Amino acid sequence: MAKLLRPDCRQCRREGCKLFLKGDRCTSKKCSLEKRPTLPGQHGAARKRVTEYGLQLREKQKVKRAYGILEKQFRKYYEEAERMKGVTGENMLSLIERRLDNVVYRMGIGASRSECRQIVNHGHITVNGKRVNIPSYIVKVGDVIAIKENKRDLEMFKELKGMKIIMPKWLEFNSDKLEGKILALPVREDIDLNIKEHLIIELYSR
Ligand code: SF4
Repeated sequence: MAKLLRPDCRQCRREGCKLFLKGDRCTSKKCSLEKRPTLPGQHGAARKRVTEYGLQLREKQKVKRAYGILEKQFRKYYEEAERMKGVTGENMLSLIERRLDNVVYRMGIGASRSECRQIVNHGHITVNGKRVNIPSYIVKVGDVIAIKENKRDLEMFKELKGMKIIMPKWLEFNSDKLEGKILALPVREDIDLNIKEHLIIELYSR
């Protein structure tokens, strides 16, 4: 499977915002962006003029990097969002937010989206009782997401037992049963990343 190879913290510094790619480290004083908020590279501290295209491109890269999505797949989300009723930018973010790896992350099962992608890839997650190992699987309202029964004794999941997890209102997760549910489709206000999605739509409409 193709994947992004740039170091995580360098990606945050490139986008100038926290993409939360490293779990607990992102909310600690060790966060590289807090220590060095300049662009990466030798001339990172120099101020550069940014064109309209540059702004649009950066906004797209920000979303791709935060969710760990490659260009081809990202464009498919845009095309699908365009066919849907409503505002294209919001539809696109909602679709991306419904990816199984992101849902597992939002439910607090793993510390970062990349860890959650691995949890899904390794077949530790079931959707409606069936094992699903596709991180890009799009969940629907009513889907039951659970940790596979024979994997619940793994150390990483044992730690979750009884834990109080804060999550968006469109999801619920019972940390005693290690099982959660999709209560609604995510709307724009449920997505906490600072994204100007209209810039991405303008970029693709060029
Ligand atoms: Fe980004 Fe997390 Fe690294 Fe901070 S610690 S720069 S938020 S990946």
